[in-house]
Order: sequence, then structure tokens, then C-alpha cells
Amino acid sequence: MLQLQNLINGQLVPPVAGHYLPLLEPATGQPFGQVPDSDAADVDAAVRAAEAALPAWRAAPAEERGRKLVRLAELIEQHLESLARAESQDNGKPLSLARSLDIPRAASNFAFFGTAAGHFATEAHVQEGVAVNYTVRHPLGVVACISPWNLPLYLFTWKIAPALAVGCCVVAKPSEVTPYTAFLLSELAQQAGLPPGVLNIVHGTGPGVGQALVEHPGIRAISFTGGTKTGEQIARSAAPRFKKLSLELGGKNPNLIFADCDLATAVQTSLRSSFANQGQICLCGSRILVERRIYEQFKTAFLAQVRALTVGDPLDETTRQGALVSEVHLQKVLSYIELAHQEGGRLLTGGHRVLLPGRCAGGYFLEPTVFENLGPACRVNQEEIFGPVVTLMPFDTEEEAVRWANGTEYGLSATLWTRDVTRAHRVAQQLHAGVVWVNTWLHRDLRTPFGGMKNSGVGREGGLEALRFFTEAQNVCIKL
Ligand code: NAD
Repeated sequence: MLQLQNLINGQLVPPVAGHYLPLLEPATGQPFGQVPDSDAADVDAAVRAAEAALPAWRAAPAEERGRKLVRLAELIEQHLESLARAESQDNGKPLSLARSLDIPRAASNFAFFGTAAGHFATEAHVQEGVAVNYTVRHPLGVVACISPWNLPLYLFTWKIAPALAVGCCVVAKPSEVTPYTAFLLSELAQQAGLPPGVLNIVHGTGPGVGQALVEHPGIRAISFTGGTKTGEQIARSAAPRFKKLSLELGGKNPNLIFADCDLATAVQTSLRSSFANQGQICLCGSRILVERRIYEQFKTAFLAQVRALTVGDPLDETTRQGALVSEVHLQKVLSYIELAHQEGGRLLTGGHRVLLPGRCAGGYFLEPTVFENLGPACRVNQEEIFGPVVTLMPFDTEEEAVRWANGTEYGLSATLWTRDVTRAHRVAQQLHAGVVWVNTWLHRDLRTPFGGMKNSGVGREGGLEALRFFTEAQNVCIKL
């Protein structure tokens, strides 16, 4: 059976205490491997290795660091198929999605930040005839990158790549639920020639490894993506130690559909933005607000397409909906379907677990589910479900749509559908969301800042923001 190992000081090693957790395949419910259940001793070894590697790595020319990252991007591209299969196996997502989205985006994270390393400039401020100030951005040192299970390799590399590019050394922890691609990345990092200790990957649980990393005195910054409750816990632990934090947290994203939109495209993209990866993307829109004039028309077209989504074996190329990531998560999502009924919701489609025959008989499958008749303040429209469950709500005015869209504790992303360019700008800028897409969804430009507002996070990532996050600025003032 597959047994994953930690990457510490350039070597693949077992956890110090020798403990492992089972790895389950969500599509079958069957174990297919073991992941280290590491602890503070493994974290300490990884931090020491990173500290030892730091002086040479931070002093290396940016171009040289960048070349290693670009090499890693090429290796990910060369191993695209095996990485996609690994991600589909431990996450339950359709293989076609892992192949077309997650893995290519992981490669482009390394390519983007690898090339950015050589273009990272700094500022000077001249006070004519008096002084010159210039800013030096020093790499912070050893940093922690902690990521969730929903886009395992994509989000893991999104954090690691900018940290390495600016000259930090990294101790990274993938989710214990989906660690397989991070393990394969360990092997590729060795092949890419990353010096030992520059990137360390420690597997294990949040309490066992994550907490030990956050508390370790050698860690200068924490880049975390995951749930809002975990983010709170990390912020509490990090605050007394004055560690720099970037927290990318949960969301409850609205789609605003105005009557003047291109309806066919709005329906098609809303289908994707609701149900891609079984709704387990932090940027999925789970509250679809539709202008009343086109509500029935939108609903009819949307439901027809939702009912046509094929739930099936993630390895089958025709599958559009794979398995949810775990039994625990499936039960959580089912409990919200029950709550939606209790809150007076009208079920329009879905709502039940799917039992597939054959290989996938024990898998965690759920019908894509749509409710209506739920008010904006009910729990189903306030709390993050993180599964294939969406609500439809008609609105009468732009003001009402914006108020409902903004009426949750979250502020991660929003999608806006209209042909009226003035309205697009006006509404976009009123939305409390770190990312607003107009007439599109999940469009990515790595140069832009990314991150949530309100309880969806602090500390922007992406582009220059991400590179700057992993540095500390120093001003040098020279008297003329
Ligand atoms: P989670 O918070 O349970 O776990 C995330 C990671 O944190 C895992 O690696 C976990 O082991 C670790 N962890 C848990 N407790 C910890 C602790 N005390 N200290 C340090 N690390 C700890 O989240 P999840 O269930 O894996 O992921 C789903 C959540 O992630 C959703 O809320 C989703 O919205 C969010 N998410 C946000 C974004 C974004 O960009 N904002 C992207 C993807 C996912």
C-alpha cells in the first residue's frame, strides 16, 4: 500500500514517532494508502533544516532561485497525468477537472513566481537636495504554508512559490485529507534541484502539525488557506508571537443576475460556479440572486442543466460531478439540506445521497441540489456549506440585490451578470468582496491581488502582494 513520507532537508523520511493515518479514496470509501501523522518533533526537524538552508538560499541571485522554480513548473507539466490522477484519487474530483484546472494552475504558479523573482524591484524616494531614501525588502526567513483539501496542489503551490521566489525557506503542510500530490511534489522538488532544506513538507493533522508550526519560534510568517474558525485559532496563536499572517478563509459568495444579462452564458457559467468540484471551491457562488423579471426563465434553464450533470466515477471522462471529499463532509452538507427543509426551503432538484454501483458503491456522492424560498437571513444563506447546494432568490431592485449580497459575515468573491457597463462598475464597487467577476467566473490573472474581505481573510496574496508578504521592508535614508 502507498505510504507517503515527509520531505525534510531534501530527504523523504518517515515521521519520528512512526505514526500514520489512513488515506481514503472518496469515490470508493476504501483506503489506498497512509499519510504520516507527524508531530512537533517532525516540525522542529523541518524548521531546523530550513534555518540551515536559509543563508545560502536568500543570498542566491534571484535569477538562480527563479530558474529552479521554473524547472519545477516544467516537471509538473511533464507529470501532469500522474498528478491529476493522484489528485482525483484523494480528493474525489473528476479527473478531467484535475487535468484541466488544478494541475496546470499549480505549474503556472511556479512559472509565474519563478520568472517574477528576477523582476521584483524596490522603490527609492528622493527629497531633492536633502536625502535619498531607498527600501530594501529582506526575505522574512523561514515561513509556514498551510493549505486545505479542496484544491490541494493548486493552493499549496500558490503559497510556496512566492515564498521561495523572494528567498524564504518553507515548511509546508498540506491537508491531511488530500496529501498525495504534495508528496509527489516532494519528489519533483528533489528532481528540480532545490537545495536540501529550502522546501520541507510535513504531513499530519491541524492540531498535530499545523498548530506546532504556528507556535514554532523559528517561523516568521504564516500563509494559511482554510476555514474561518481555523483562521481565528491561528490568529490567536500567532498574535503574541508577532508573526506575519495571511489568512484566506471561507466564503458565502453571491451571484447577481440582472435582467439585461446574456442569459444563456449566465446560466451556463452559474452552473459551473455553483457545482465545479462539487461546490467545494471557496469561490463558488452559493447564493444566486436573480432579478424578478427573468427569475422564472433563469430557473427553468438553470434547473434543466443541473439535472443533466452526470454524477459518477471521477475517473470516467463523462463525469461532471465526482465525490465529496469525505464521509464527514458529506454528512455536514446533508445536514444543511435538512436545515434548508426546516427553514421552509422549497427543493427544486437534488437533495439526496447518490449510491453508485460497482467500484464506487461506497463513495461519498451527492446530487447537485437547488432550493428556493429561503430568505437572505436564514442560516442556509448565511453559513458556508461548501458543497453542491445553492439557493435561488428573486430580487426587485439593484439596492436590494447589493444589500443581500453584502449581508453575510463573509466577503470573498462575487459574480455579476449585466450588459450595462455603468451598472457593472457601480455595483462591483459596492460589493464587499475581495474579487468581483463581471460576466465571467474563476478568471485568473496572477498579477492581481487576491483575497477576501471581512471574515473571508486578511493579507492579500497574488502578484507583487504575495512577493511582498514574504519580505520585511527596511528603509535606508542617506543625507545628501
Ligand atoms: P481547515 O481550516 O479545516 O484546514 C485547513 C488546513 O489547516 C489543513 O491543512 C488543516 O490540517 C490545518 N489546520 C487545522 N487546524 C489547524 C491549527 N489549529 N493550526 C494550524 N493548522 C491547522 O479547512 P479545510 O476544511 O481543509 O478547507 C475548507 C475551507 O477552506 C473552507 O472554509 C473554504 O472556504 C476555505 N478555502 C478558502 C480559500 C480562499 O482562498 N479564501 C481557498 C480554498 C479553501
